[in-house]
Amino acid sequence: MNILRIYVRVLAMLASEKRLAIILIIANLALAVAAFAEPILFGRIIDTLTRSAGDPSSVSWAELLPLIYAWIAFGIFTILASIFVALNADRVSHRGRLRVMSDFFEHVLHLPLGYHTGVHSGRLLKTMLDGSNGMASVWLSFLREHCASFVSLFVLLPMTLLLNWRLGALLIVLVFVFGAITAYVFHHTESLQEKVETYHTDLAERASDALGNIAIIQSFTRVEAEATSLRSISAELLRAQMPVLSWWAIATVAARTSATVTILAIFVVGAYLFTKGLATIGEIVTFMSFAGMLIGKLEATVTFANWLFMLTPKLREFFDVTDALPGVCDAPDARDVGRLTGEVAFDNVTFSYDKRRNAVKDVSFTVKPGETVALVGATGSGKSTTLGLLHRVFDPTGGRVLIDGVDIREMTLVALRRNIGVVFQEPMLFARSIEENLRVGKPDATEEEIQIALERAQAKDFIARQPDGMRTIVGERGRTLSGGERQRVSIARALLKDPPILIFDEATSALDATTERLLQAALDAATKGRTTFVIAHRLATIRNADRIFVFDQGAVVETGNFEQLVALNGKFAALARAQFMADAVAKEGIEPA
Ligand code: ADP
Ligand code: MG
Repeated sequence: MNILRIYVRVLAMLASEKRLAIILIIANLALAVAAFAEPILFGRIIDTLTRSAGDPSSVSWAELLPLIYAWIAFGIFTILASIFVALNADRVSHRGRLRVMSDFFEHVLHLPLGYHTGVHSGRLLKTMLDGSNGMASVWLSFLREHCASFVSLFVLLPMTLLLNWRLGALLIVLVFVFGAITAYVFHHTESLQEKVETYHTDLAERASDALGNIAIIQSFTRVEAEATSLRSISAELLRAQMPVLSWWAIATVAARTSATVTILAIFVVGAYLFTKGLATIGEIVTFMSFAGMLIGKLEATVTFANWLFMLTPKLREFFDVTDALPGVCDAPDARDVGRLTGEVAFDNVTFSYDKRRNAVKDVSFTVKPGETVALVGATGSGKSTTLGLLHRVFDPTGGRVLIDGVDIREMTLVALRRNIGVVFQEPMLFARSIEENLRVGKPDATEEEIQIALERAQAKDFIARQPDGMRTIVGERGRTLSGGERQRVSIARALLKDPPILIFDEATSALDATTERLLQAALDAATKGRTTFVIAHRLATIRNADRIFVFDQGAVVETGNFEQLVALNGKFAALARAQFMADAVAKEGIEPA
């Protein structure tokens, strides 16, 4: 996307305030015309005066007064229109900034998890703020000045040819020289500036990454190293920025010089034309004043071009994000399926992250409502991916996932996800109160429902010990709670949702053995009557499952209950021997390898 396309695209976003924007543009047109009227009136007045230069008493007031009145009228109009434009341009751009920001935010929330794993949150935040602030300033400057400048340059300037074509041509040459200098500098610095912007983004990403890992930085005494690395990015940024700045400084000086030359030329050429009777003194004055005005506008335009040029990479990054498609979205005829009973079927499901290697291949199984299934297998064997396909983090590249016999792609995402409660390995909590975190599961939950969910998740005791109880704020990502406490809040959150299908993706692996045992009993109660998928490594969790699916390299290689699989003495038995602790092995009677 080149700079002009981006500029036009940003301006096109004013469409949501079409009426006001059009009124402002018309006001700008009028202002541009008024600005050109003044020098012309000025020239006429001078001509009227010079005509009676030999005899001052012969000055015709009948001729002068209308010119002066017109000037006053244009002056008053300019003041009023400018006030109107300034006020409303500010409003439009402020409203637009907040609208664009919330749209961006909503869009980003819709983007697939896969997108977010690849992009740092610090980078997205910077893109959102830079992009929306940048757009607001583009709108503001367009509506306040540049719209009028464009009109002056492209419409009114050619009209000066009618006034005096020789002097008009001089002005047009001036505009071309300015344009050429700017274009040349643009051309030479575009890729340089792009590089500068990547340093800016690196800087933001690096800083936010460090802030998110402050505990590691301090405990590994990395403060100096992190600070140094940030400084070295800054240094590289400056090194890359300097040549760009030099180029633009040259452009500014060159533009200034050509402006001075033009003024001189108008004076000299004007004087020559005057002696030949081809221009009046009034016309020379008019063109001098045109030239002054134009130079002001051109300089402002070059400054603006420079600024837009610095801004473009930020805007481009913004549009790159807003142009990214949500990976999973509702089909046009998707429907709300209401509450499901929870019969889950995978029908030859295959999925690949990179279109080369399959993370899940040809997985087929059926799980009855209320059944508890454990997924086991080495890390990277495709367990999380399989369950991700169930709540549509991504869609299968082949095969179908059905719930209650309906392809989940025929359901709305909201309906599907309302029916599935997920407890992730990393218990992600908002930096809000415990209660707010729980209500994410069910915003209108009653006090009693919350208490039941907490009871089942074994979370009551530690919440009672918190300084503000349920109103305790848990810090960024729940940092003020211990791993086990965080996980119990997130389990309670899923239980509160009361879904027919539950997914626990290594949810209990962060808990100590005692807590896990306590929780296990609670979970058994909570999962009763719900179809439950558990990914776990602990024997106790797996033993309680109705069935176990053994994963290997994306495929289900063995299925059965614990005893059956041990008797089979295949992959599961080997995995069990390798994974479970020696005493557990002894207790459960699995032969150590
Ligand atoms: P498990 O949960 O059994 O440990 P996963 O389902 O997380 O395994 O991963 C299956 C395979 O897919 C692994 O090889 C892993 O590297 C790959 N994988 C997982 N998540 C992503 C991702 N977001 N992008 C690319 N590859 C991924
Ligand atoms: Mg996993």
